[in-house]
Amino acid sequence: MRGMSRIVLLSAAISAVLVESVVAEAPPAKELFGGMKLPSRAAPSPFGSYAKGCISGAVAIPTDGPTWQAMRLSRNRRWGHPQMIALLERFSRDAVALGWGSGILIGDISQPRGGPMLSGHASHQIGLDADIWFTPKPAQPLSPQQREDMPFTSMLDESKFLTVDRRRWTATHAQVVVQAASYPQVERVFVNPAIKKKLCDTWTGNRAVLGKIRPIYGHDAHFHIRIKCPDGAAGCQPQAAVAPGDGCDKSLAWWFTKEPWAAPKKDPNKKPPPPPKPMGLSALPKACSTVLSLDARNEMEATFRTSGGEGALPTTNAYAAPPAPATAGGAFELPAWVPVPPPRPTGL
Ligand SMILES: [Zn+2]
Repeated sequence: MRGMSRIVLLSAAISAVLVESVVAEAPPAKELFGGMKLPSRAAPSPFGSYAKGCISGAVAIPTDGPTWQAMRLSRNRRWGHPQMIALLERFSRDAVALGWGSGILIGDISQPRGGPMLSGHASHQIGLDADIWFTPKPAQPLSPQQREDMPFTSMLDESKFLTVDRRRWTATHAQVVVQAASYPQVERVFVNPAIKKKLCDTWTGNRAVLGKIRPIYGHDAHFHIRIKCPDGAAGCQPQAAVAPGDGCDKSLAWWFTKEPWAAPKKDPNKKPPPPPKPMGLSALPKACSTVLSLDARNEMEATFRTSGGEGALPTTNAYAAPPAPATAGGAFELPAWVPVPPPRPTGL
């Protein structure tokens, strides 16, 4: 009996070690999602929250459009929910109409299946966030290499505390940011606190929309557009609505105190806490494991197009969005349209 119980104990110990080593070896979610090159073949659906989630059936914005270019192509982060991509195309045209060069330069949206990233953001995980450069698209299209190398231009005067550089910031910058916030599906636009303050001090138009423009660290060389959970996206976890008002209040004044910029206090007698463990797949909604395991769609099939970018791909395989509603300067409402991926081509 003693021998038997020893074997039982031993095998329990071995399996505990095995389980532990399996757990220890499970790669962080950022490696799993960061390694995905293509989106899943599924209906577009965000799962989880902006900073803890993933997306199935993402589509890519074409690298080049009549009024946009996607930057840093090597990062492979120009994927998003079709409503996000449609909004960016629409916004790019509106920006040009406001005098914003020949269009917008688009930074990160999401990875092909969303999720946490190996570098950069905490959010951008469900295809509903997008970064726009504070630099307009130049008339001469940028080559892929230029899009890798072009440096960011900060809108801040680095010789002063939290102050917009008056040599760089123009009325058009303000109009473009407010335009981004004006679409009903946009819930928040993130900018540096200095930029928010500049808008508070100078914006003479409708101020109701200013409340959606939120101050945050960074965001001095780009701004960040966040749209709400699409209708019917049951797995998408919405954010609390922004408080009513223009946001030119205590929540902004706080950024101009020492508190947000103070180095965290260190107790010399205390051991520094261990670095936080990277998020595992189990921290994400269950659906995200499925999103990782689904078959991929190829890039051409999964490239969204409404207006036909330069170097247009054949449209037969690409997403065909319905024609944009004819609006004469009125509020832009996206159709309640959910694209269904085309059937898998035979022979693939
Ligand atoms: Zn961002």
